[in-house]
Amino acid sequence: MYDLMIIGGGPAGVAAAVYAARKRLKTILITEDIGGQSVVSEGIENWIGTPKVHGADLAKSFAAHLDAVKSDIVTLALHERVASLTPAEGGSASGGKAIGFVATTKTGKGFTARAVLIASGAGRRKLDVPGADKFENKGVTYCASCDGPLFGGMDVAVIGGGNAGFETALQLLAYAKSVTLIHRHKEFKADAVTVKKATAHPNMRVIAHAEPTEVMGEQFVTGLKYKDIDSGEIKEIAVSGIFAELGVLPNTDFVEGLVELDTVNRVKADPRDQRTSTDGLWAAGDCTDELYHQNNIAAGDGVKALEDIYLWIKKQ
Ligand SMILES: Cc1cc2nc3c(=O)[nH]c(=O)nc-3n(C[C@H](O)[C@H](O)[C@H](O)COP(=O)(O)OP(=O)(O)OC[C@H]3O[C@@H](n4cnc5c(N)ncnc54)[C@H](O)[C@@H]3O)c2cc1C
Repeated sequence: MYDLMIIGGGPAGVAAAVYAARKRLKTILITEDIGGQSVVSEGIENWIGTPKVHGADLAKSFAAHLDAVKSDIVTLALHERVASLTPAEGGSASGGKAIGFVATTKTGKGFTARAVLIASGAGRRKLDVPGADKFENKGVTYCASCDGPLFGGMDVAVIGGGNAGFETALQLLAYAKSVTLIHRHKEFKADAVTVKKATAHPNMRVIAHAEPTEVMGEQFVTGLKYKDIDSGEIKEIAVSGIFAELGVLPNTDFVEGLVELDTVNRVKADPRDQRTSTDGLWAAGDCTDELYHQNNIAAGDGVKALEDIYLWIKKQ
């Protein structure tokens, strides 16, 4: 049995693994890959201490850091996806004190540890229209705080009329030439205050009751086609950037029933120490219900969790 199992190799999982190695906790890190979501980013400009780094290079530096400290104390189960996590025999999923947990991967491998850190992150709900895949990171993006400044002085579109859509629009209005928000319904899901603030801006335009049908472009995005649901007419706007804010899908299917989740299936975690509702289980990064999701925050969560896990294990 390992002291600790970390599930996920993004910034949260890797930061935790580095701390686990330094604290000499016998650890298994199970992950499909090292690097996490921003591996596809052309340029990350807010990883503290590094003015600009390509996502793939950031992933390489995570792997190098891990290699430098892991020694024989942190074992890597790479290219493995956890399919289920259950209390080890004698443990209990709720209320009682679990003595450990067993993870089973899709390939059928089993791993047991006394403590588990869930750092499995999330994926963005993708824009599902022709051209969206082809132009991803060539104008189509899923992260305004990451990529927004690249579109300074340009016309951009935001897809989605929830809070995320309107907040993204507000962020973009600070530097974009114009922002057009496209929303499928007549009513917005976003708070009235946020809608009012965005729509009051002279460079903001809202197209409600419309749905995107195609991303246009050559090398990069040049426009977006959408259907006016009332008339059925297909229309087109010229934009250089398309920010899809269609919701986030946390990678938490393997802990359903084991730990308390919020209404959108994110693990509820205490922001002071990253503990979850189940003793022996911690969660960090984008798979949690914290308000803000960024690389630095995920890494910080992983560190916080490890400080707490270390004390918890020493007390057992
Ligand atoms: C395109 C894009 C660009 C971004 N750019 C920036 C940026 O410039 N700056 C910034 O601060 N943030 C950026 N972000 C946000 C940032 O990437 C996330 O906040 C951060 O990656 C969250 O880290 P994490 O470790 O919690 O999860 P993730 O990065 O999502 O990592 C999760 C890890 O868990 C693994 N995993 C998932 N499920 C399982 C499972 N069942 N079993 C085993 N392994 C599993 C995955 O393979 C992955 O290794 C960007 C996001 C996107 C999508």
